[in-house]
Amino acid sequence: MKLERSKQLFEEAKKVMPGGVNSPVRAFSSVQMDPPFIKKGEGTYIYDEDGNKYIDYVGSWGPLVLGHCHPEVVKNLKEVVETGTSFGAPTEIETRTAQLIVDTIPSIDMIRMVNSGTEATMTALRLARGYTGRSKIVKFNGNYHGHSDSLLIKAGSGALTHGVPNSPGVPEDVVKNTITAIYNDTENIEEIFKTYGEDIAAVIVEPIAGNMGVVPLTQEFADKLRSITEKYGSLLIFDEVMTGFRVAFEGAQSLYNIIPDLTCYGKIIGGGLPVGAFGGKKEIMSKLSPIGPVYQAGTLSGNPLAMMAGYTTLKILKENPEIYKDMDRRGEKLAEGLKNIVEELGIKASFNRVASMLCMFFTDQPVVNFETALTSDTEKYALYFREMLKRGIYLAPSQFEATFINAAMGDEEIIKTLQAAKEALMEVKRL
Ligand code: PMP
Repeated sequence: MKLERSKQLFEEAKKVMPGGVNSPVRAFSSVQMDPPFIKKGEGTYIYDEDGNKYIDYVGSWGPLVLGHCHPEVVKNLKEVVETGTSFGAPTEIETRTAQLIVDTIPSIDMIRMVNSGTEATMTALRLARGYTGRSKIVKFNGNYHGHSDSLLIKAGSGALTHGVPNSPGVPEDVVKNTITAIYNDTENIEEIFKTYGEDIAAVIVEPIAGNMGVVPLTQEFADKLRSITEKYGSLLIFDEVMTGFRVAFEGAQSLYNIIPDLTCYGKIIGGGLPVGAFGGKKEIMSKLSPIGPVYQAGTLSGNPLAMMAGYTTLKILKENPEIYKDMDRRGEKLAEGLKNIVEELGIKASFNRVASMLCMFFTDQPVVNFETALTSDTEKYALYFREMLKRGIYLAPSQFEATFINAAMGDEEIIKTLQAAKEALMEVKRL
């Protein structure tokens, strides 16, 4: 595989941007190679600056559930571009997008658009604290909720990949109200509530974690979180930045049959443009400025381009529920195929999958939380990743991320992926 132009571009980038990137994991350091520079995307494929073509299992880390450059999204965006990209004033498309979400998601009476998942979770917590008048929050080890100070503790995703789950630069004072808990551990959460319950404003959780690899909550633990937060008067915040409109249109909360108090969105809600959002019960959302005292604002929030990309994507998903069935079927086909290959080759691997999100961990233990995710052999993952890339399969460049199926992917791509995986895993076996 030729990557000369990418290499040259990366050298130039490193001189003017830390690590040559604007977000750490895309530097590919954990898979010990330089990243290809991407030139364009089309459907389920991306093409790099050296002319290599890849089946894309990253999809911009989740947003591109319809694949790249969906014709309807592109057409609508072109129309918006010609009428103005931002006004910092109300526009109709904001209400249409909000209405579509409020009409479909039972837990959401009102929603506010922001510009990233980080902003969504950061503000949801401020709102939870403002609403309850309490200070403490609970987050789970290995869950990632963006990079705001109070949440950058025992964090997953890039923070974990790069070995800084607790980042320098976050003062102790800022995180003294963040309690970290063990995912899927009932005794632990009971203990935490027994000790701090009256001071806990909210529990924030990835209902299907995608930032320590893919690790779903058990139904029992999800129910426990709902009941214990209710008992103590704390809010339950589902961070559905990754799972929202992906595992089902109504998100993970519909699969678990849980009504959280607040939900955070990102990724798909922006259709590939920078958007985040948080929403929930009217009583809580009404505490937000300008009708309530909890302040939040954004110059580009709800800008017409981002809203149109999100609205078009959500509308397509809502009107075509078979997309979810197809993605689930392809996810199953891929996971089952991979399981057969590792079994045949005698490689120790453990699988987690929910619909179009899946993950193969190089460990023989079932992965149920952060601690078990860490038993995965990341050297093996790095080799697997490089061997797959050589064969035209673009996976997440870290063990602690999800593999995403998109709606533009057909059986043909799954078959190609499994053929590549067979060869790649034979190399892993030699390690
Ligand atoms: N929450 C979750 C569950 C995420 O997966 C992410 C990003 N991967 C975030 C929050 C932060 O979103 P953003 O990168 O848009 O700030």
